[in-house]
Amino acid sequence: MNNSNKYVRMFSNCIPVLGRDKSVIYDLQRKQMFNIPNDLYNFIQLFEEHTISEIFELCGKDNEQVVEEYFQFLTNKELTFLIDKDELELFPKLSMKWTSPAKISNAIIEISETTYPFLDKILKCLTALGCEYLYIKICIPKSYNVIKDIVGKLTTSSIFSVVFEAKFNKEERITDYEQLIVENKRIETIFLLSEEQLKTSSSKILITSPKKFVNKKEYFFKINISLFTESQKYNTYFNKKIFINKEGGIFNAPETEEVFGNITKITFKDLEAIIDSEQFQKYWRVNKDVINECKDCELRYMCVDNRLPKKSKEGSYFFTSKCEMRVLN
Ligand code: SF4
Repeated sequence: MNNSNKYVRMFSNCIPVLGRDKSVIYDLQRKQMFNIPNDLYNFIQLFEEHTISEIFELCGKDNEQVVEEYFQFLTNKELTFLIDKDELELFPKLSMKWTSPAKISNAIIEISETTYPFLDKILKCLTALGCEYLYIKICIPKSYNVIKDIVGKLTTSSIFSVVFEAKFNKEERITDYEQLIVENKRIETIFLLSEEQLKTSSSKILITSPKKFVNKKEYFFKINISLFTESQKYNTYFNKKIFINKEGGIFNAPETEEVFGNITKITFKDLEAIIDSEQFQKYWRVNKDVINECKDCELRYMCVDNRLPKKSKEGSYFFTSKCEMRVLN
């Protein structure tokens, strides 16, 4: 059958994003990406208004082979399909609208002698705020016992997923951590910091030396619909985040300087007022499209970079350090 009068459409969950040097197709459903040259990105833009035969004509005889290769690539990777003109309206683009009922969606808490006694209060507050993702850094001894206790407390909370960061103590056994993970589906990952070379059979336990741990940047890229749509308008690291440090101090994130009160001293109402304030939400809308270094980076809608953006006099944002993550890709 001759397809020359048909239109090509990308599957709505497959979205090309233009970068400065190269582009990427985000496959939001299969959670994967395809690196493509910018020429192919521009080629895809022709699909909007032109049939296959028109595209061949527009690209010229000299480029016939390239056009064929591009079509072949997109078909082989299952990124496109063909439709007739009268079907065009049946395939709208994916909505970029992002909403969240939660006031706080993710929290980072440092568990210390000061904050541990207030953990029930903290979890109650986070549940009332709709928080689903938790990162807990254990700063006191007996990591295993503390993690076990915390996981027990989470059974009645709204927390959907929890990541722990803890020092591995010599008297502990890796098998106990493994068992804890088997019994608790909420545990997403346990980062165990140890100078010793340890082995585990669990893919959810990541053993690393404290020095190496800060370099584990590959965890900062995620491809999914929620992150992609959120990042169109919001900073996916700072948005709806709260950080409670060892002393109980309340911050937007570990990277932000302003302290907004102390969790050991305030009521839930006070906390809600803090979170609703413009000052607390200062970085929430600073998405990658307004940050000089990131606005032409093809990874900007999958990147959860945690550097603090600074505002220039002209109103754009910049970083004072260089991006180390782009090279990892
Ligand atoms: S932080 Fe780096 S990888 Fe992320 S969007 Fe910016 S330039 Fe790209």
